[in-house]
Amino acid sequence: MSQTASSVKKEPACSTTSLSNYLWSDHPDENKWADCVHCGMCLEACPTYEITGQEQHSPRGRVHLIKSVSEGKLKVNEQFMDPVFACLDCKACTTACPADVDVGGLIEEARGQIRQAMPLTGWKGTVSKLFLQGLFPHQNRLNSLGNLLKIYQKSGVQKVVRKTGMLHVMPQHLMEMEAIMPEVKDSVRKKYKNEQVVKSKGETKHEVSLLTGCVMDVMFSDINESTVNVLTRNGNDVTIPQTQTCCGALHVHAGDRETGRKLAKQNIEAFKDSEKVIVNAAGCGCAMKEYPELFREDPEWRDKAEAFSEKVEDISKYLYDTGYETPKAEINKRITYHDACHLAHGQGVRQQPRDLLLDIPGVEMVHMPNADRCCGSAGIYNITNPEMAGEVLESKMENVPEDVEMIAMGNPGCMLQMAMGVQKYGRNQQIVHTVQLLDWAYQKEDSVKEGE
Ligand code: SF4
Ligand code: SF4
Repeated sequence: MSQTASSVKKEPACSTTSLSNYLWSDHPDENKWADCVHCGMCLEACPTYEITGQEQHSPRGRVHLIKSVSEGKLKVNEQFMDPVFACLDCKACTTACPADVDVGGLIEEARGQIRQAMPLTGWKGTVSKLFLQGLFPHQNRLNSLGNLLKIYQKSGVQKVVRKTGMLHVMPQHLMEMEAIMPEVKDSVRKKYKNEQVVKSKGETKHEVSLLTGCVMDVMFSDINESTVNVLTRNGNDVTIPQTQTCCGALHVHAGDRETGRKLAKQNIEAFKDSEKVIVNAAGCGCAMKEYPELFREDPEWRDKAEAFSEKVEDISKYLYDTGYETPKAEINKRITYHDACHLAHGQGVRQQPRDLLLDIPGVEMVHMPNADRCCGSAGIYNITNPEMAGEVLESKMENVPEDVEMIAMGNPGCMLQMAMGVQKYGRNQQIVHTVQLLDWAYQKEDSVKEGE
């Protein structure tokens, strides 16, 4: 049975001086809701409000609930937990809010309190521990999983499993995820483990480090490879620190802020000698830029986290700011672009990837209405809240232009979710990462040159 806040002894060691009724330190920050004037300008931006029409599933409603618990008018219980965990943490409300209320930040802090008051139990607790603590922070275990998946895909077992319908024992959404699982290739971190630096292909102009990510380097190592190719092509020496770890975004979204802090510290140390930390996954980049929020009550680490977050840069923004070679080969495709929430709303990166795509000869960009609306991926939201995630995805797919051949974006979670949308709604678009297209154009240019 879930443990409610009323049955939990208040910890005397709480380090804040606030009068909040939350039980633990690192609780929702009253300065974050202080500017909310209940104007409702965030409502239309919120996918969960659009679907449910319920105030408690709107940004304004969630801010009100979080504040009410702090004021002792509500308890941390199931009624509070549901709307807080149904939030996609898409940050669209923060973009829409004229007062810049950080609803996403409040949600994450509230989840931290909920998970301490009401720890996950039963199979949900076991699965959560298995993935969040037992798998994502351990690169060697992720590599072993990658090897198993490679065997599953290459040995013919996957074909048999699909043909015989064995997958029907799985919940529907997991079956859909299996169907779009990308081909697993060798991890980039492992590939470059003996190289101190991957040298620039020409004159060195900059020195950068690359976050390879946890799941990213197993499921999307080809995108990591493209990132290394594009960076070295454009005058960057690339370092891949071997002690880096998972960014902790999934842990923070799930309310496990303690593990989030542990992973943040490891990354801050791993990249301490780096001038720039390049990230190709919007969710990871956003989480790393927000590390200082995790150390609000720890001045020493907060300073370190602030210095670190300044160095974190999305790959498309970095290339746009530092300059890149315009490819000469053509990629003759009609492409639309989906704004990952944690790139557009979380980091304000919107135009740079579009400009980068437009610089590839032959690319024809087609506008997607509501391009910055969430696709429903939201970390592992599509696993924990499959029904709501499915409705958000349906609405997203309605906006994907029919006649495009590719959908480009800058986040692996979105890539999986959009691939699921393409499959589910009988569409035929290829899902690509922005940096992949640039790499493909360079490769085509090189092969044309070699053939001359
Ligand atoms: S969060 Fe911002 S937009 Fe929403 S009600 Fe409050 S002030 Fe208005
Ligand atoms: S983060 Fe997204 S889902 Fe959550 S309240 Fe804001 S707009 Fe709604």
